[in-house]
Amino acid sequence: MSHEKIVVQGICYDEKSSFLRGPAKAPQLIRDRLWSSAYNHYAEDGTEVSPDMIEDIGDYTPEQYWDIYDHTKKHLTQGAKLLSIGGDHSVSYPIVKAFAKYHGGFDILHIDAHGDLYDSYEGDKHSHACPFARIMEDQLTERLIQVGIRTFTPHQREQVVKYGVEVIEMKDFETDELPQFDRPLYISLDIDAFDPAYAPGVSHQESGGLTPRQVLGIIQNLKVPVLGADIVEYNPDKDVGGITSALSGKLMKEILAAMLK
Ligand code: MN
Ligand code: MN
Repeated sequence: MSHEKIVVQGICYDEKSSFLRGPAKAPQLIRDRLWSSAYNHYAEDGTEVSPDMIEDIGDYTPEQYWDIYDHTKKHLTQGAKLLSIGGDHSVSYPIVKAFAKYHGGFDILHIDAHGDLYDSYEGDKHSHACPFARIMEDQLTERLIQVGIRTFTPHQREQVVKYGVEVIEMKDFETDELPQFDRPLYISLDIDAFDPAYAPGVSHQESGGLTPRQVLGIIQNLKVPVLGADIVEYNPDKDVGGITSALSGKLMKEILAAMLK
């Protein structure tokens, strides 16, 4: 597998969702939007995103949670870039753990309505409410920056302090004060970070969220290499008129463009 090509994988998994199932159905819908003849192959900055720049290994349905780790690890090589689409947010922990085997130090930019920092949720340490507690516990990154959070509990605020997480809460978000990075980046994008007006197709609609333009601005203004990313929590069962699949496909294109730079 060529190092120059970005590995794309779909993960059909939503068994760690605490409220609704659905994100397992997301991968093909996001991919279909990206390659739909309704759109051209150019990102907003002029970067061409074409199928021959991508090694799409297709969609994978894990039998067990930890199969996601083995699957991801199997399809990467040293230095290979990775974009994973679909699934609930629990998938990010095994994906990042596998990704870290092939990369040196990287920061994580986590865009979400939720901190996903619970030590355990409803008795499950691998719930979609917990992946960033596991990632920090395993020291998979030195620096986790969260943007868009608007649902912190006292426990999660304790976790922020415990793990030294940097947070730009939604209530404090300013477009001209975006986070700055000096190491390569992994982006974890939870679609519920967006205001539900722009992305109704999520299991946990949380009002008062980010606009597509704000998130595009964050991604387009990155000055460091983007080595890996995931787009999670899109729930097709909750979508309205394809609004959320269109947004997810657009984000996939813009993130791929950032990875190609
Ligand atoms: Mn999340
Ligand atoms: Mn979320």
